[in-house]
Amino acid sequence: MKSFRKELKFHTDSRRAFINITPQVEAALSESGIKEGLLLVNAMNITASVFINDDESGLHADFERWLEKLAPEKPYDQYAHNGYEDNADAHLKRTVMGREAVIAVTNGRLDFGTWEQIFYGEFDGKRMKRVLVKIIGE
Ligand code: ZN
Repeated sequence: MKSFRKELKFHTDSRRAFINITPQVEAALSESGIKEGLLLVNAMNITASVFINDDESGLHADFERWLEKLAPEKPYDQYAHNGYEDNADAHLKRTVMGREAVIAVTNGRLDFGTWEQIFYGEFDGKRMKRVLVKIIGE
């Protein structure tokens, strides 16, 4: 069995963003040479997510509105976590949207369902963060 590990780096200009990282993950898979196996992709920061969904701007606006209803950014003092930080909402949003995605690798390709794409969800940006891609198989 082979294994492959790669880190992707992201630095957003805004506090929140959704980025389609499917091309970078496909490039990592290609680099690995693995044809059959499993690919894990996870955020390495507790205020960012990796999730799979549709690359459709209306849906992304809906995610933003829905997450702001569940865990509004402001007022900052509504959260016990916001003593030295102001990112409690980002921790909560990250938990709802998830830490990682696992994708089957078949014939050297990501074995996606229809319209599935991989996204990096940033909830407390303006700084460097990492995403891990780990692939096992042969
Ligand atoms: Zn925090």
